[in-house]
Amino acid sequence: MLDLLIKNANVNGQNVDIAVKDDRIMDIADSISLDALTVFDAQNRITIPGFVDCHTHLDKCLLNESQPYQDGTGPFKGSLTYEMKKQFTVEDITRRAEKMLKKAIKAGTLHLRTNVDVDGAVGLKGIEALLALKKKYESQIHLQVAAFAQEGVFWDGVTEPLLREALEMGADLVGGHTIAKGEGEKHIDVILALAKEFNVEADFHLDESGNREHYLLPYLAKKMIDMGLQGRVNGIHCCTLSALNEDELTDALQWIIKAQLKVTVAPTAISTRNIAPAKAVLSTGTAVGLASDNMRDFFNPLGSGDVKHVALLLSYLQRFFLQEEVDEIFSMITDKGAKVISVKDYGFRPNGQADITVLDATTTNEVIAYQGQPILLVRNGVIL
Ligand SMILES: [Zn+2]
Repeated sequence: MLDLLIKNANVNGQNVDIAVKDDRIMDIADSISLDALTVFDAQNRITIPGFVDCHTHLDKCLLNESQPYQDGTGPFKGSLTYEMKKQFTVEDITRRAEKMLKKAIKAGTLHLRTNVDVDGAVGLKGIEALLALKKKYESQIHLQVAAFAQEGVFWDGVTEPLLREALEMGADLVGGHTIAKGEGEKHIDVILALAKEFNVEADFHLDESGNREHYLLPYLAKKMIDMGLQGRVNGIHCCTLSALNEDELTDALQWIIKAQLKVTVAPTAISTRNIAPAKAVLSTGTAVGLASDNMRDFFNPLGSGDVKHVALLLSYLQRFFLQEEVDEIFSMITDKGAKVISVKDYGFRPNGQADITVLDATTTNEVIAYQGQPILLVRNGVIL
């Protein structure tokens, strides 16, 4: 007797049945006729393991609850955030992050990476809070925690040892910011060295300002190749790509290919600068994902925790309107996103984990346009 039989699921355009026993997918086939405790007819609705959100800041989300939004430049918003960060407690971070995490789960997100600030101002409070949440919610969402040097590595004399400690505590990867405190190349060197030493991936807020003087993508790519870290780094933002001329962009795309640099586009950054040209980056064949990034704070007062929200935003900003372009956006929040954050075995397979999300839509256009919530959420074989 099966625990769950999902009939008529639309998986990558094929109408299939999915059989679930305990926490495993027993079978996926054109037609399965076995008894099940629960039978659900998906009526050809799109069915995925779950959405992938490649980059967030759960430790700093929902700051708007205690301090109203103020407009201004990126550095101004950064300074407001820094002042609040000094007051963070583990309890306060946990409460805000958990609230947003629940919204992401409800929206159908199955894999989510969050960067967590680690420095002399906040210490390891964010890491402690997010590692505990990762464990608490492991049956519902796969959370990846990046120990993140938001403010730079060299400014306070303690960030590097704290990053090391965070990785020893169980952080999944290390994160850097290529323009932090003007550290540039030195900053990249230290973060990549930590990634190599701890055998973890790295991600960088890369060329985030969009200014040409902060353009470090070629340096990062060369360094990745020198260190044998091809395919092990995710570049978040890459805004300066939008400021390059045609020849320079061609050169940048070649570096992305050579280093197998993965790229995450965070469309809400449009509020303070131009965002990376996603179609050009996708044309390299590299893994490109989408990100909610900041949510309900000074950088993004209207974040929702639902990655479809940013998919819709990118569709409009860069005219992803043709059917194949909408499919591309959809893949950025599903299988391509999974490649960006190195999710193993994303997709349905016999004996795979029974994580199944049935969306209230029969086409990718409907998913993005209507922004509907999932009508069935199964995690580890359990209907949520
Ligand atoms: Zn970010």
